[in-house]
Amino acid sequence: MKKLSLEEARVILHKGTEAPFSGEFCDNKQQGKYLCKQCGSELFLSEDKFDSGCGWPSFDDEISGSVKKITDADGRRVEILCQKCDGHLGHIFHGEGFTQKNARYCVNSISLEFSGVKK
Ligand SMILES: [Zn+2]
Repeated sequence: MKKLSLEEARVILHKGTEAPFSGEFCDNKQQGKYLCKQCGSELFLSEDKFDSGCGWPSFDDEISGSVKKITDADGRRVEILCQKCDGHLGHIFHGEGFTQKNARYCVNSISLEFSGVKK
């Protein structure tokens, strides 16, 4: 497990949220995989990333079985966590109609590591 910076720990361990449009992957259009910042587990593929305009990287699917969903502490939203290390990723929303899969995994860039495909 990677040692986290203070800001990484604030989001990943203490379920914080980075400021919208501040994360490094929000506009990342490169081909590759998104991994858990803390444990390196593979979570999302660039093919499933889409532009939701919400200010955080958005995906309509996960790498199968990589993401755990629990009811958020607010009792309304569904929190998403890394299946392997329980690192906080963000939230998942359904029924917004952004894509065919009709799901939006709204993820903090700081919770992710990007591994690009070399061309
Ligand atoms: Zn992890």
